[in-house]
Amino acid sequence: MIHNEIDFAVIGGGLVGAAIGWGLARRGRRVAMLDEGDIAYRAARGNFALVWVQSKGGGMSRYATWTRESADAWPELATTLRLDTGLDVCLQQPGGFHLLLSQKEMENRANALKRLNSQPGMVPFEYHMLDHAEVARMLPRIGPQVAGASFCPLDGHVNALRLLRALHVGFQRHGGSYFPEHRVEQIAFHDGEFRLACGDGQIGAPKIVLAAGLGNATLAPMVGINAPVRPQRGQIIVTEKIAPFMPYIVHTIRQTDDGSVMISDSVEEAGYDVSVGSEVLAVMADRAVKMFPHLGRLNVVRCWAALRVMPQDGYPIYDQSKDCPGAFIATCHSGVTLAAAHALLLPPRIDESDLTNESLAAFSTQRFHVATAH
Ligand SMILES: Cc1cc2nc3c(=O)[nH]c(=O)nc-3n(C[C@H](O)[C@H](O)[C@H](O)COP(=O)(O)OP(=O)(O)OC[C@H]3O[C@@H](n4cnc5c(N)ncnc54)[C@H](O)[C@@H]3O)c2cc1C
Repeated sequence: MIHNEIDFAVIGGGLVGAAIGWGLARRGRRVAMLDEGDIAYRAARGNFALVWVQSKGGGMSRYATWTRESADAWPELATTLRLDTGLDVCLQQPGGFHLLLSQKEMENRANALKRLNSQPGMVPFEYHMLDHAEVARMLPRIGPQVAGASFCPLDGHVNALRLLRALHVGFQRHGGSYFPEHRVEQIAFHDGEFRLACGDGQIGAPKIVLAAGLGNATLAPMVGINAPVRPQRGQIIVTEKIAPFMPYIVHTIRQTDDGSVMISDSVEEAGYDVSVGSEVLAVMADRAVKMFPHLGRLNVVRCWAALRVMPQDGYPIYDQSKDCPGAFIATCHSGVTLAAAHALLLPPRIDESDLTNESLAAFSTQRFHVATAH
């Protein structure tokens, strides 16, 4: 198949690709979105769904601001998606707790947040260190082992699968064309035109966006971009549904809009292994039960492992290729939190080929170009 009637081909239909594709299609661009399909590693289908602000941006204050801008834009995204598609992504931003189980953890957390908020260029965000009694007033079912918490009123969560669906439905309503089972194997660039080889056909486009998550590790070098990303495994436990008991979110525990409790507390360097491990799950469950003892009486209905898309230094990567102008890359490890930025703020910048302005320059791949000492 040759498909030349498009302005952009977005490679990857996960949360990053779908958000950018939706944003470009809303601007009237003709967009094709190509996705590998069910056998791919897909963080968008296995995540914890937080829209999380506190603790983001240590070492890069611009990332903290970008996260904050996305959290601020999230209500607009949720409303626009509902109007576009009729789908409610169940956004709630009541504030979030990072619960701590000892005085040592309290001390470390207080120091880390102080350091984060006092780094150069940081626009400080509101947070409070709370002791056990203060937390218990807001989350009455915490256990006696909770020493305290940091609380940030900006944190929230959504229904991430509904979000992915809404972005896809909205994308197609705005005229976007979706091609599942289209893994891009090769990218060639001649005379200002990209040729994407996928399976038995080719797609031609004047501009492309690499939003293939972990797939970007192999695609980016084809257009001269150095964007090192690696898999980082996270495991999730889901319990049976219970009556609402969490008016706020905890960074490792949240209650979904249908009443299930989700627990996510693991970060593992396990390569591309997506198996679940009972040792890690046991530690996660143990900490969750210390935080909320009544969770110990619930049945677990499922567990899974999924791979985060982790840039080498942990910060998002947005750039345009110097060798192949018109090839853009977008990748990050917090695609739920940043979905509003990717859907509302980034598409105009990509459309105008302007990723070098002040607000995005910090995320360029320049930071990976380290001079070699001789
Ligand atoms: C356990 C876990 C918990 C998480 N919790 C949160 C959270 O609470 N909050 C948050 O903000 N983020 C969270 N994340 C991260 C979030 O899910 C990811 O940042 C986001 O899904 C990344 O989106 P993506 O589109 O870059 O990648 P993916 O969702 O992985 O999508 C990439 C897509 O590209 C396609 N693809 C790959 N290669 C090719 C190719 N060659 N050709 C065509 N298509 C290709 C794949 O089919 C896939 O659909 C979590 C992730 C995990 C694993």
